Amino acid sequence: MGPMVTGTPDAATRVPFVDLGAMTHDVRAEVDAGWCDLLERSDFVGGESVERFERAWASYCGTDEAVAVANGTDALLLTLRGLGIGPGDEVVVPANTFVATVEAVVLAGAIPRFADVDPATALLTPATLADALTPRTAAVLVVHLYGQPADMDALGEVAARAGVMVVEDAAQAHGATWRGRRAGSMGRAGCFSFYPGKNLGAFGDAGAVVTSDPALADVLRSLRNHGRIPGAHARHGLLVGTNSRMDTLQASVLAAKLARLDGWNAARRRIVERYRSALPPALARMIAVAPGAESVHHLAVLVTTDRDALRAGLAERGVESGLHYPVPCHRQAPYRRHSDRALPVCEALADQVVSLPLFPHMTGDQVEAVCRALHECGEERG
Ligand SMILES: *Cc1c(COP(=O)(O)O)cnc(C)c1O
Repeated sequence: MGPMVTGTPDAATRVPFVDLGAMTHDVRAEVDAGWCDLLERSDFVGGESVERFERAWASYCGTDEAVAVANGTDALLLTLRGLGIGPGDEVVVPANTFVATVEAVVLAGAIPRFADVDPATALLTPATLADALTPRTAAVLVVHLYGQPADMDALGEVAARAGVMVVEDAAQAHGATWRGRRAGSMGRAGCFSFYPGKNLGAFGDAGAVVTSDPALADVLRSLRNHGRIPGAHARHGLLVGTNSRMDTLQASVLAAKLARLDGWNAARRRIVERYRSALPPALARMIAVAPGAESVHHLAVLVTTDRDALRAGLAERGVESGLHYPVPCHRQAPYRRHSDRALPVCEALADQVVSLPLFPHMTGDQVEAVCRALHECGEERG
């Protein structure tokens, strides 16, 4: 049995925010075999296993290419650099994202332009994107926040009319679809993180870019490996490269977990449906999933006007919760100078979101404990 809940004697009723142990247990035998094989070959960075995972990930996402990199931030940064985005260019980003989305823009030398989002889905909309465009906009980073793809058709139309490239930050949306197409496959490129807590997570840091643009894939392969020109080991290319290679061990972990991703995502979806049916409407609402979107529920996020009381009520009942994200990016110190206007929806969400426990191996008892706690918090509120 995998360790489900750590420690305490009343473990049966305590619900941790996340527990990765059971996922590790599911793939343990395959990873042990992969690790032995890797030690035999003493093949630690890149190589055959990484190439095999790249092909599997591209095929899963429905793209021609996948380029494995060291983490999700590098996936974004190298994609922007590979598309020639840099000083003088503006890149539109939603303000309610994990800070790495914005970091990548600034690290590429470009200027972030913060956009607001839809209050129901917390995602970019054609109108909020259009509001953030200027003559200097080179690209938009569409974030599929909490596992739900944004409306890529409508956003794509606005971007195409403005001559702006669309890049997807799919770091929370492994396997999600928009009208049947996978997150990551709809823009010029899709950027993934395989940080351990993501829906598809490595045993450490890892990331990937998927694309059907072979020229971009070639540039990314060069950038991640010190700018080397493939086949010419001592020549260091046209652009300044970096070290952003994926470890071989991570590729074997990811290949083993990929076979289970759809099942794990389905389990997340069932848990969120149960939360949705149990949530007292007067207490909070859940982030809505738009028609056409199939979310993989990286997070189960509620929106409530009395967050502190709700979190305290959950904690009293042994239910952990999280905040994603309490400070919008345009209000974080290093990025404030790029903030030129109020973003009322992002600012309200930052004060009102709360994330419930969610991981694929939650037991029925754990799920029901969360539902019961929500019900009781609703009664307390009256
Ligand atoms: C996790 C995450 C990233 C960054 O990935 P790392 O692997 O931690 O560098 C980028 N964007 C979003 C939306 C994320 O959730």
